[in-house]
Amino acid sequence: MTEIRLYRMEMYVVALLLIFTNLLYTFVQNRTDKPQNKFFISVNGIVLINIITSILEEYIETQIMISNKAFILKNIMNYLYFIIHAMLCPMFAMYVVYAVGKQHKRTWSNNLLFGGLFIATEIIAVSNPLTNWVYTFDSNRVFHRSWGVYSIYLAAAFYYIYAVVTLFSSWNALTKKRRVSMVYFFLIVMFGVLIQMLNAEIRSELFSEALGLLGVMVAVENEDDRIDVNTGFCNRKALLNDIKSHIVNRRKLTVLNIRITNPEIIQRATGKANMDILADILADYLKSVIPRYQIYNVNPESFILTLVDKQTENALTLAQKISRRFELPFDSGGTELLLNTVVIKADVPDELKSAEDVLSMADQSLPKNNTKTLLIGEDLSYLLRRTAVEEAISRGITERTFEVYYQPTYHIKGKLHGAEALIRLHDSVIGNVFPDEFIPVAEQMGMIDILDNFVFSEVCRFLLSGIPDSFQMDCINVNLSVMHCMQPDFIEQINQIAERFGIDKRSINFEITESIAASDYGLLSSIVNVLKSEGYQFSMDDYGTGYSNMESIFSLDFDVVKIDKSILWNAEKSEIGRIVLENTVHMVRQMHRKILVEGVETSEQIALLDTLGVDYLQGYFFSRPVPKEDFVAYIQKAN
Ligand code: C2E
Ligand code: CA
Ligand code: CA
Repeated sequence: MTEIRLYRMEMYVVALLLIFTNLLYTFVQNRTDKPQNKFFISVNGIVLINIITSILEEYIETQIMISNKAFILKNIMNYLYFIIHAMLCPMFAMYVVYAVGKQHKRTWSNNLLFGGLFIATEIIAVSNPLTNWVYTFDSNRVFHRSWGVYSIYLAAAFYYIYAVVTLFSSWNALTKKRRVSMVYFFLIVMFGVLIQMLNAEIRSELFSEALGLLGVMVAVENEDDRIDVNTGFCNRKALLNDIKSHIVNRRKLTVLNIRITNPEIIQRATGKANMDILADILADYLKSVIPRYQIYNVNPESFILTLVDKQTENALTLAQKISRRFELPFDSGGTELLLNTVVIKADVPDELKSAEDVLSMADQSLPKNNTKTLLIGEDLSYLLRRTAVEEAISRGITERTFEVYYQPTYHIKGKLHGAEALIRLHDSVIGNVFPDEFIPVAEQMGMIDILDNFVFSEVCRFLLSGIPDSFQMDCINVNLSVMHCMQPDFIEQINQIAERFGIDKRSINFEITESIAASDYGLLSSIVNVLKSEGYQFSMDDYGTGYSNMESIFSLDFDVVKIDKSILWNAEKSEIGRIVLENTVHMVRQMHRKILVEGVETSEQIALLDTLGVDYLQGYFFSRPVPKEDFVAYIQKAN
């Protein structure tokens, strides 16, 4: 008997330590602000009080026969135990409701049943001194249970089942980790209760509850995998999970996407390239408009706020309020920063169907000519267009509706020089799509290599036909996306195609656009050098439109610099534009690079470019980009 007693005491102490650990971590990690957190703390608090009363009871158990004081204390402890313990299951059921995101589902009748039963059991427990409904002590101070104990257990069973049903009805909204730990909690608690029911001497119930709660703390409450420690904002993964859960639970949901459109100001003002600073700067403000656990930092410049249930009614007002706040500067360590934003408001699932759609909105570039700071309703049509373009690209690859057009290039003195290959998409659903629109989309989809390689293969085929040679064309220009060039096996991909067709590598001139912020010029230049040593030529495309980043022209060894059409067109508009064109041409000539000017549309332009000493020309004056057959017909005629 005494041994079992001792063993009981040990169980209680271990349970006490487990609860203490749960509470300590919860408070140290500040996981106290969500309703879910509050229920978790309450459940632990209940078990804690139960353990303390049980320990005291054990302690005085042997003395109740001889000491009146001990007997009174024992009475009080028993009384407290039942009152508090009756709260445990309802509280845990509430915890589960919040943890799986089903709080809004609770109806009036549901609340009445849930609350009514709770009040009834508490009345039974509280009234025990008058009624002896739960337990009595006989004249020998021996403890006896009454029917009230069983009604409390029955109510607990009801809440237990309620929690299990709630859990399974949201099964699809839970991550695997959370599922496992919740099921573990239910099983271990059931196990502990059953053992104690079969043998009241073994006090396994509180211990199993404490242990189960530890599992819940580690897997459900712990948000390390969901949260950025520095800002307290949730991450992309958390956004996907939470939105999926809202959709599964059919909660009303509106998302606000806050996009900073001048992120470069951060680097200019703070000298730090690290964009996470943005989240820091905005943290206080955003947390003042919505709880931190509804703020998601999906990429450095893009934040999502989720508004659920009642909050959705004020979504527009909130969006406007946020928009207005950004008209004023933010403070970053004493420096004032004026951040430009666009706020996008979208309802889920009416306007955005899935969690993935929300994420892709947050990642996607804004419509090109956008001037609005708040995008709502109709404004979101660009997202639909984007999805349509994505689908068209995938379809284009399977249905082979991509085509290569050719636009001739000429020596300044009028002789045919070559051609630029330009891709076209004739989609069966949305019609013709132009590369300016679909190339950036294909880049983001990670499919640009397929398109570039397709164009290159078509060009090889064309070279193999012998037609370009018969017109003494020097080379055919093929555009490459820098994203593609940076792929580890890029050189092999290119050579494989070239060797499959057996073309002369010297007749290919690859164009890489200057206006990209290439992250690694060292790597890019080594790739260019390898390919050049094998015979390929290279052109720097769109020169003059870039970030005025001199690095590209210093570090990349190009044969030809293609001056962007906007430089030519501006030269006709103003004196300054003319100065820019002249000096650009002079500068490139002094670097001993060949110069091609594109966008040539008039003979006046040709005369001007001739006096400046440009080498090659390209533009509508000669021909628009046309299908291969038309191109061949055109050069035949011109010959
Ligand atoms: P880009 O390489 O700068 O191509 C020149 C663009 O200027 C072409 O537009 C061409 O039609 C247009 N253009 C040429 N001469 C004139 C002119 O005299 N006046 C006017 N108004 N426009 C002229 P396009 O074909 O729509 O291509 C747009 C961009 O798409 C290209 O700009 C290039 O960056 C990209 N692109 C096209 N094909 C490919 C490809 O196969 N791979 C990759 N990665 N990008 C491509
Ligand atoms: Ca080009
Ligand atoms: Ca160009």
